[in-house]
Amino acid sequence: MTDIKLIEALSNAPGAPGFEDEVIDVVLKHKGSLKAKKDSLKNLYLYPKNYDASKPTIMLDAHLDEVGFIVSYIDQNGLLGIEMLGRWEWYNVSAHLFKVRNRNGQYIKGIVGSKPPHFLTPEEQDNGLTMKDMKLDIGATSREEVMDTFGIEVGAPIVPDVTFDYNDKNQTMLGKAFDNRLGCAAVIETLKALENEDLPVNVVGALAAQEEVGLRGATVTARRVDPQLAIVFEGTPSDDYAKPVELSQARMGHGPQIRHKDSSYIANEDWISLANKVSKTQSIPIQHAVREGGGTNAGRIHLNNLGVPVLVLGVPSRYAHTHHLFASFEDFNHTVQLAAESIKAIDQSFLDKFEVDFD
Ligand SMILES: [Zn+2]
Repeated sequence: MTDIKLIEALSNAPGAPGFEDEVIDVVLKHKGSLKAKKDSLKNLYLYPKNYDASKPTIMLDAHLDEVGFIVSYIDQNGLLGIEMLGRWEWYNVSAHLFKVRNRNGQYIKGIVGSKPPHFLTPEEQDNGLTMKDMKLDIGATSREEVMDTFGIEVGAPIVPDVTFDYNDKNQTMLGKAFDNRLGCAAVIETLKALENEDLPVNVVGALAAQEEVGLRGATVTARRVDPQLAIVFEGTPSDDYAKPVELSQARMGHGPQIRHKDSSYIANEDWISLANKVSKTQSIPIQHAVREGGGTNAGRIHLNNLGVPVLVLGVPSRYAHTHHLFASFEDFNHTVQLAAESIKAIDQSFLDKFEVDFD
């Protein structure tokens, strides 16, 4: 079973899109005997010791980055303009604690300001504010103080200031960036679970940068790894707060989610039936999702080269794209188990299903 400390370290690491370095450091610390390689986009590849170029490769994807911000200007009052890196709603940002990286790599705490009710116009009271009204306040009173005393410049990355917590009474994790540090942890744990297996495929990890700004890293990882099959791990948004049980497709504590369709891809049926079969024989609870919107790195990976069958497994996470998320450690462990057992169930006849010649 996974050491919760891995998820804790990944969740706490700051990693706005384009600034994934500290998440990479955590992965390198926990990679064991896997070989690692980084590229210019800050994608991180994890190769098993027994990689064999003559075998087909299955790529395990997750993205390293989390939704954050970047400093866009510094005004005369010492307030920082912020530009979104990934999608936020203003009401999840206002009056929340963030931290911004200075030129020495230190993190300075700040609050995104909130307009006191005293100053709201009647229109703002009815309709709320917009992202344009949001500024980060680090407690400085001038532009000079921000730049000279705090060492903060335009272009500095900003992430939520949140510390991971774990409740072992019900195996519930509370922290930031479960989208997609749970996926990163699942890639590492699945690779380790299969390390000593004799498989007809290579299993390669590809931790992608910049997913939250448009699936950019995975465009390149897929090209480099050039897989025959892939699994995408996600901290998928839980809908049990927003929907009644009968409509819910991502209830926390009810097992990994298999995604059949979203706006980025339609799943491969053969891959899904293998996972379904494994979930039955191994008694792993699963949930099925057909999403109206949303998207994952599968959107890029399944169209790579001549096409790649992709299985998307999600760990339901409550309150995605906010500071504080809940997720079940049991769901996480079931996700790793489902992935590892599905890969073990792959044989030649399964691999032959995807490319067929007819006489
Ligand atoms: Zn996301």
